[in-house]
Amino acid sequence: MPPEPARCPVSTDHPAFSFIDRERDPAEWAGHPPVPLDADDCDLPTPPHIVEAMRRAAREPALHRHPRHPGHQGASLLREAASGFLARRFGVAADPETEVLVTPGGQEAMAHLALARLDWDDVVLVPDPAPPSYAAWARFCGAEVVRVPLREENGFLPDLDSIPADVARRAKLFWICYPHDPTGAVATRAFYDELVRFALCHDILVASDAAYSEIYYDTEPPPSFLESPGAMACGIEFHSLSKAYTVPGPGVGFAAGDPRVVGALRAVKTHTDPGTFGAIQHAAMTAFTDTTGYPDRLRAVFRARVKLLCDGLEEAGLEVLRPRATFHTLVRTPAGTTSERFSEELRHKAGVSSVPGTAFGPGGEGYVRLTVCADTDRLTEAVRRIRAARLV
Ligand SMILES: *Cc1c(COP(=O)(O)O)cnc(C)c1O
Repeated sequence: MPPEPARCPVSTDHPAFSFIDRERDPAEWAGHPPVPLDADDCDLPTPPHIVEAMRRAAREPALHRHPRHPGHQGASLLREAASGFLARRFGVAADPETEVLVTPGGQEAMAHLALARLDWDDVVLVPDPAPPSYAAWARFCGAEVVRVPLREENGFLPDLDSIPADVARRAKLFWICYPHDPTGAVATRAFYDELVRFALCHDILVASDAAYSEIYYDTEPPPSFLESPGAMACGIEFHSLSKAYTVPGPGVGFAAGDPRVVGALRAVKTHTDPGTFGAIQHAAMTAFTDTTGYPDRLRAVFRARVKLLCDGLEEAGLEVLRPRATFHTLVRTPAGTTSERFSEELRHKAGVSSVPGTAFGPGGEGYVRLTVCADTDRLTEAVRRIRAARLV
């Protein structure tokens, strides 16, 4: 795990998104667009009961003002609803006053955590592969990124014993993301227990990206990092409504964990954002107190899509890693080619866009990511095209 060389302010675009943007250039595809299986943007609309809550609240003039009060933490009713969600879903007790903070989505809050915690020359542990932004935020702060490999044979969980002692000593922050993008892997409670011991021993803050916690296909729902004893003293977890309740447009979520860290994040927010629009906070409250069974219906839709795509790809002779969670499926790159080249072949020969695994770090070599954020017709068409292209 050598430290990565370039670490001062970088201006590289998000590699997965720049790839997707290039793919979407209409000039290149006049009349023959690829089936887009590259983005992680859900194609389904926000459910009507949540839209209705937002619409009703948007009419309230009191909510048209800056939503920053009280104290930038977010509405107390929403913090209580979020705390209720953590209790119901994970058995986690989080004090809505000091351990929960409303955020304008996961991405914004995680970027601000980096700003709140990192100094020049700090070491940040970033899994490889992982969403590319964890490393980007570290570099924006002048911190040094050390990649921790996630290996398929280890269930895509980091091997904590392999982290050198001097790296562990210098590390300030450790990003984890389960359910995992791009592999669809799920963490175990035993791994989280071990991670808490590691973090407390080396005084490292764990930042857990739980955006996909509700998009799972196992019968047992995935655990939260916060379930492990001691987690509230060494970590913070980021939840988002984007994936769990199909509310990506408005941008809303919450962070929960170590009250000192929640406080530090709140302090950054007092200088940076005015809070989340009250109507959107109302929508989020409705989501967390859902009685319509929405997440179950959403999972059923995605479970069927994952099966359709994976079965079809296997019939086309490709090897897939069936995801246990998330919107994504990894396809193993056939022998003799690279992730980037195979992704290009999928686009040019089959007319299906994907993201090469290497957009998520060098550890993504050997895989290409396809998402199931497309309806059954489109997925069927993608499979038909891939079979017809005879790529393997
Ligand atoms: C979608 C997503 C998020 C959530 O981001 P928002 O800003 O809340 O939309 C966070 N992490 C991962 C890995 C994601 O895919």
